Amino acid sequence: MPISTDECTAWLEIDLGAIQNNIRLLRQKLSKPVMAVVKANAFGHGIIPSSKAALAGNAEWLGVARIEEALQLREAGIQVPVLVFGYTAPCKVKDAAGNSIRLTVYDRSIAQAYNEEALRCGAVLKVHVKVDTGMGRLGLFPDQAVDFLHTLTGMKGLEIEGIFTHFARADEPEQQTTQEQINRFTNIIWEIEKMGLRPPWVHADNSAGSLNFPQASHDLIRTGIVVYGLSPSSKNPLPDGYRAALAFKAKLVSIKEFPPGSGISYSHRYVTYKTEKIGVIPVGYADGLRRVSGNEVLIRGVRVPVVGNVCMDQCMIQLEKVPDAQIGDEVVLIGQQNGDKITADDLAELWGTINYEVVCNMAARLPRIYIE
Ligand SMILES: *Cc1c(COP(=O)(O)O)cnc(C)c1O
Repeated sequence: MPISTDECTAWLEIDLGAIQNNIRLLRQKLSKPVMAVVKANAFGHGIIPSSKAALAGNAEWLGVARIEEALQLREAGIQVPVLVFGYTAPCKVKDAAGNSIRLTVYDRSIAQAYNEEALRCGAVLKVHVKVDTGMGRLGLFPDQAVDFLHTLTGMKGLEIEGIFTHFARADEPEQQTTQEQINRFTNIIWEIEKMGLRPPWVHADNSAGSLNFPQASHDLIRTGIVVYGLSPSSKNPLPDGYRAALAFKAKLVSIKEFPPGSGISYSHRYVTYKTEKIGVIPVGYADGLRRVSGNEVLIRGVRVPVVGNVCMDQCMIQLEKVPDAQIGDEVVLIGQQNGDKITADDLAELWGTINYEVVCNMAARLPRIYIE
């Protein structure tokens, strides 16, 4: 039985229809296969339902950061190609090959270890070669890539299925860095094409790249944040049509009237200055609400402030503007209510971070309620 909001005090509502819609839009605009990036529990949205929604929207690949995430997809019966972007220990090669999970290679000694493991298990491991064209993270430098590819062709336990790179600044108005990364990558692809070594899947664009550099997409796009209807950066608003999939809600669980001069929450950082109605919602920093001042919520369509320090599991809200508030009222931390809305971007700005971190930090203990 799916859970209903009746039984929850704080929860996430995940609009699977939005995820499907967003993938469809990407496919329409770019006419390229989509790898939906579902790492970190699908950016907090829940890896299995989100992956299924992405596939229903015709995503053809799934991308994750760790082998454990890929195995979770397989355990749920999801059969599409899955690529692990990050490091995988060689002792996991058997699991990867046995489950048709693609691993990333970016280093000679690690590739050798993968090859030995694969040969020992009598398996062939599909790999994608990562090139660091300017991200400064995993990957071979461009001048090592062709040699590396050559070496791999001699390893019979490995099948080179792809080659890819990752953009560092594709979300910024400054476009030169990305253009340089594109040029370095394209040069490598030309070279390996001439040598007959081009693998079937060449890819570069992340969400920001897909929006701003669609010409760099090659054989597929690797999109994360846009899948969830969020923009890659505040400088880069999403085109019309994309829909945010996540809402963060809670119920009002207490209302009390305090006399003037009452301290509210730890350290009494907030003190009532007149008779004040203070509500409690069961959401704290352990749920992903940052312990900073300035948080706001919507209740009965009205925007009210969180007052006092955010506790681990609860926080207090000032109800002066909602005299008719009642225990059980729905409180929105991210999402819409009566025409007003609070977005993950609003919280990111207040918290001095990016919307990615806001949604990824939604706690595991929050029930995810899936709507179509
Ligand atoms: C996380 C990640 C992505 C997705 O990035 P978005 O900005 O969310 O689209 C794509 N590729 C790699 C290698 C990643 O690590």
